[in-house]
Amino acid sequence: MELSIETRCQHLADDNSKKNHYGSISFPIYQTATFAHPAVGESTGYDYSRLQNPTREHLEKVVASLEKGIDALGFSSGMAAIASLMEIFRPGDHLIVDADLYGGSIRLFNNISEKNGVEFTSVDCHKEDVEAFITDKTKAVFIETPTNPMMNVTDIAELAKVTKKHNILLIVDNTFLSPYFQNPLELGADVVVHSGTKFLGGHNDTIAGFLVTNDEAISEKLRFIIKTTGAGLAPFDSWLILRGIKTLAVRMERAQENAIKLAHWLEEQELVKKVIYPGLPSHPGHEIMKKQSRGFGAMLTFEVTSKEVALSILKNVKVVSFAESLGGTETLITYPTTQTHADVPKDIQLKNGITDCVLRMSVGIEHIDDIIADLENAFSNAK
Ligand SMILES: *Cc1c(COP(=O)(O)O)cnc(C)c1O
Repeated sequence: MELSIETRCQHLADDNSKKNHYGSISFPIYQTATFAHPAVGESTGYDYSRLQNPTREHLEKVVASLEKGIDALGFSSGMAAIASLMEIFRPGDHLIVDADLYGGSIRLFNNISEKNGVEFTSVDCHKEDVEAFITDKTKAVFIETPTNPMMNVTDIAELAKVTKKHNILLIVDNTFLSPYFQNPLELGADVVVHSGTKFLGGHNDTIAGFLVTNDEAISEKLRFIIKTTGAGLAPFDSWLILRGIKTLAVRMERAQENAIKLAHWLEEQELVKKVIYPGLPSHPGHEIMKKQSRGFGAMLTFEVTSKEVALSILKNVKVVSFAESLGGTETLITYPTTQTHADVPKDIQLKNGITDCVLRMSVGIEHIDDIIADLENAFSNAK
């Protein structure tokens, strides 16, 4: 019987690590750059930590197990993971990318990948006909669901039918839900991306990224890239993410519970024009989420009545921090137009709905009453 995800956050099914490490319950940090060889042609299994390190390898096995992949690779950041993934493409290749995406991904595609000859078409994958944009040069479709920050939801299984028909890759950035709530590989995706900095790490204290796949050939290519370009996650940071994952299930449940309560509270506020949370039945992606994920997550976006109101809220929150990033135990509020999406051209921001009235929240695990009281105070200062 397969172990449940709560248990897989603690133990690997084929966990020999305790036996190999003096019964150590916490996986050791192998803080070493290199490994001694018994003789020429012999290896302990590890040669040099850029290639692989036992702590990173253990973490990769845990993440692969959570995402139901055959392989996971740990990178020094989410962006290092995505930049490394772009190395599997060549000049002349064409990618279809979701119109609403993490701003850093858009910056990478527009400024680095394009310079390297890869071409991109931005498509609203949750509502446009993706197939119509596929050409004979198209090699992949890259999406987030729900998207950052507008929370658009794409039906992964439906899109996978299209990518499989055309023999191209479906890449899903699963950062917003974490493997606790959604497993895109099971729905037909070929590669899953994570910013491990967010829910996997969960404590706003470590930068990390992952690529997970269930395809041998892709795994082999990515292994070659990580060892050659060298963006692998360091041993201590690998250990921090391993520790974060131990509480993934309880954190996700509690944060989601708070997010649902907060979404309902926000809906009642005079200064709030719109609450975008896929857990609300009014969200257009609500039914798709019920089908493809086990929860709605702890990210929500809302629109206030004016820019002045938005700025006043950001200035007056005290329990909630005005900061970039997401997925930690602390509640954060973000202003996408000047923070996470600052490098996305203004016309594209507006096309996606990122106005200066839009705020994004990553709901943490504080007591919900304190989060609401803090916002209540910030809202009253905004009037
Ligand atoms: C934060 C984030 C990234 C980038 O990850 P880093 O760890 O900050 O490099 C990529 N995708 C999404 C959806 C993110 O939220």
